[in-house]
Amino acid sequence: MRESKAVTKSARVPNLWIFEDQLSPVIAERAAASEMRVFMVESRRAFAAWPFHKRRLTFLVAAMRHFAEDLRTAGHKVDYFPLRETNYLDSISAIRAQVKATGSNLFFVTRPSEHHTQAWLDTLPTLLGIEIRYFDNDLFLTNRTDFADWFGRQRKPVMEMFYRRARITHGLLMDDDRPVGGKWNLDAANRKPARSVPRPLPAVPGFAPDAITLAAMRDVERHFPTHPGSTAGFDLPVTRVDARRALDDFLAYRLPSFGPNEDAMLAGEATLFHSVLSPLINAGLLAPLDIARAAEREFSEGRAPLNSVEGFIRQIVGWREYVYGIYWTLMPDYRTRNARQSTRSLPDWFWNGDIDLNCLRHAIGGVVERGYAHHIQRLMIICNFATLVGLRPQEVNDWFYAMFIDAHDWVVTPNVVGMGMNSDAPPGESEGTIATKPYVSSAAYINRMSDYCTDCRYDPSSRTGDDACPFNFLYWTFLKHFGPAYSKNPRMTMMLKNADRIDADEMNEMLQQRKRFIRLTVDGRAYAS
Ligand code: FAD
Ligand code: SF4
Repeated sequence: MRESKAVTKSARVPNLWIFEDQLSPVIAERAAASEMRVFMVESRRAFAAWPFHKRRLTFLVAAMRHFAEDLRTAGHKVDYFPLRETNYLDSISAIRAQVKATGSNLFFVTRPSEHHTQAWLDTLPTLLGIEIRYFDNDLFLTNRTDFADWFGRQRKPVMEMFYRRARITHGLLMDDDRPVGGKWNLDAANRKPARSVPRPLPAVPGFAPDAITLAAMRDVERHFPTHPGSTAGFDLPVTRVDARRALDDFLAYRLPSFGPNEDAMLAGEATLFHSVLSPLINAGLLAPLDIARAAEREFSEGRAPLNSVEGFIRQIVGWREYVYGIYWTLMPDYRTRNARQSTRSLPDWFWNGDIDLNCLRHAIGGVVERGYAHHIQRLMIICNFATLVGLRPQEVNDWFYAMFIDAHDWVVTPNVVGMGMNSDAPPGESEGTIATKPYVSSAAYINRMSDYCTDCRYDPSSRTGDDACPFNFLYWTFLKHFGPAYSKNPRMTMMLKNADRIDADEMNEMLQQRKRFIRLTVDGRAYAS
């Protein structure tokens, strides 16, 4: 990567500071429009602040470097501070160097997506004597103030109502003011079990690393040798052109079957019909509305069915935008919510996937290897388990933040603390903000939606005994313990009734088994007593 040379002081043009998750032409155009110098930093301190997966770091570093090269080719002036051992360890030393070199202490910034970055930026004018002026964050379709207004006006600010509003605003899958096909949500036609997944599965295209990406891989291995994962085999798209190719491949080969198979999980198949677009959108390489419109075209031109297209568009303009709005409306205290006061620490095997529950081994093992697991693995395997055994949501959140290629605080925190662990009930209330009930299940769900149980040492149909699947005794004892807190929630009635039907002896046996399992497998202590 070419490093910036000092520029003449006489230039004194302002700087446009671009972060690693703002690699969008919309942002770069600002530099052209007002003749600013683009300023970009690979902050070694920020990248080392968390045990970030090496694939995540490689993706961001390679994408930043390509973005900077593209800007230079387009005639922009770019001052780029790459990873180095000694100087420019962090953004602060890079800013000092930039001010010294350019004579300009004015920095324009697009408002960051993460709360802690904004809090840190707020300290810089006093600390460094610089001036920061902001552009609104237009990498999302949702304006933070509008979302907060909408949120404040809702009795129950659920995603579904937000999503309908977004469909109307952007005219997506609409027949005048009615949803195309008559229904807003076609999930009833989706969620087919694992045994219905069509074969053969389409491959996700890999993108061979070029010289810039190979250098990024080497730098990440050299600077962050103890971080989880490996850069070997890195093949994610890191440019806008390749991101577009990845989108086109998804639209052509996976979108048509996306909806029905969205929730299925298969051993050895990481992606099935999922898009793997999240790191690209989150870094700014693809724009959410472009993706939604491209998917809509697949339906209107007869190449993909409505249930798949609607389901996909709901993820992009519904869930993705909704969690961003929730984050900016409820932070910073949102991150600390812990509705059930769970305090258990993450077991060590979360960092290597070495566990004999087959579903967890596949889901976590895939994350350790690739930094990716699809939505249902994240929700119904990893978070389901974390909720049932009472892991502290903030520790689980930190793990997700470190380990996933697409992790950014604005999207991890609502998904883990809110959706995954249902821990975001405001103080004094029992119902969560994002999900009205916990996403927990016994082995019955996992057995239906995956093929993991076939090769597992545990028996998905047993609740007690040596071979009993831990998801069974953990689930029923969770319901027994927390039942009273959910007794007024109509969505929990059926689950709680089923738990009440279990006779006292069996429930006691499951409670003993729960204790033993947690001591041995989660707390990692030998069983005594
Ligand atoms: P697809 O299944 O193909 O979905 C299409 C797109 O929809 C995704 O690329 C993503 O941009 C968007 N999307 C779908 N669901 C959500 C959602 N709940 N929140 C936000 N966007 C969504 N997403 C991240 O981008 N980064 C994360 O770190 C992240 N952590 C998560 C942690 C947990 C516990 C859970 C339950 C979900 C998390 N998600 C996260 C949301 C979702 O699981 C991922 O966006 C999705 O799995 C990414 O894979 P994909 O691109 O193949 O998605
Ligand atoms: Fe997971 Fe239980 Fe199935 Fe094993 S039997 S894969 S532990 S759900």
